[in-house]
Amino acid sequence: MLVVMSHVASQADINRVCDTIRAMGYTPAPMPGAQRTAVGLVGNDGTVDDSLIVELPGVERVIHVSNPYKQVSREWKAEKSIVTIAPGVSFGGDDIPVIAGPCSVESEAQILAAARAVKSAGAVALRGGAFKPRSSPYSFQGLGKQGLELLSLAKRESGLAIVTEAMDDEGAHLVAEFADCIQIGARNMQNYSLLKTVGRIGKPVLLKRGMAATIQDLLLSAEYILSEGNPHVILCERGLRSFDSTSRNLFDLTAIPVVQQLSHLPIVADPSHGTGRRDKVLPMARAAVAAGADGVIVEVHPHPDKALSDGAQSLTPGQFEELMIALRRVADAVDRQIMGTVAAVG
Ligand code: PEP
Ligand code: MN
Repeated sequence: MLVVMSHVASQADINRVCDTIRAMGYTPAPMPGAQRTAVGLVGNDGTVDDSLIVELPGVERVIHVSNPYKQVSREWKAEKSIVTIAPGVSFGGDDIPVIAGPCSVESEAQILAAARAVKSAGAVALRGGAFKPRSSPYSFQGLGKQGLELLSLAKRESGLAIVTEAMDDEGAHLVAEFADCIQIGARNMQNYSLLKTVGRIGKPVLLKRGMAATIQDLLLSAEYILSEGNPHVILCERGLRSFDSTSRNLFDLTAIPVVQQLSHLPIVADPSHGTGRRDKVLPMARAAVAAGADGVIVEVHPHPDKALSDGAQSLTPGQFEELMIALRRVADAVDRQIMGTVAAVG
């Protein structure tokens, strides 16, 4: 429930509404706006009796949020949220940031080469997993803490913001020390204890859609993070499991405008996992920007044929450069811009 205060409501009126919400056993969330303040009621699962609220002085109207997700909904907050992961790197505005880097951090040479390559092509954040959720326990599981330290080194060298995955509660605290944005992978989208943990940590979160999750499931998972007091959530469409094995996943482009209608949170596209095939990444990245994505995340490896994970979908540095050129043209066609500058050659 959202209590919209009149534009002449006093601070005492707002406090009275907050006190009443508390007395009803819920938590008030005041949200000052340019014209008026709204006070959200947090903690209800179903419709709340508003009779104690509607008559209070300064209350203009009460909105009952109809969706099961509340704080992530457009009803709760009409204007788009901007999520900033590092100075100048924001998702949800007109400029489109591109996150790029290998699937996994493998060595110092590999991550530094990747960082240099993606930076010079115009990426503003470096991705790379130190903790890898692999389908097989015998596959490369990531370098762990050493991988995080290598990401820090790459950040110092390149200035790129770091996006890296946390797989469990304990790891989330460690990852938070090194990352600008904590990735929650598709396999963990419904790990509710991890969602609560990253909600409490408060750092920006990149929440990937589960491979068999509905959009409502995705938004409810985001709600877990916001309900712990962390509004810095970026959603990610990364493709769904389907019956068709010609691509690794079925990249759900429609999710981009659908999520943007339902939620104020930014949504980025991951055409690497979305397709699983290097030659399909460029067309689907272009399509995602055309569809209005708030960012793109792409796997790039200095030597994809030697990659320890997801080599088949990783771009070479040269292909990534081409992708960035193509994305700038598409962004221009839809009156937007790819964030960041391209390093001068020479
Ligand atoms: C990844 O980003 O490398 C990854 C494991 O992604 P997802 O969780 O979408 O499979
Ligand atoms: Mn990967």
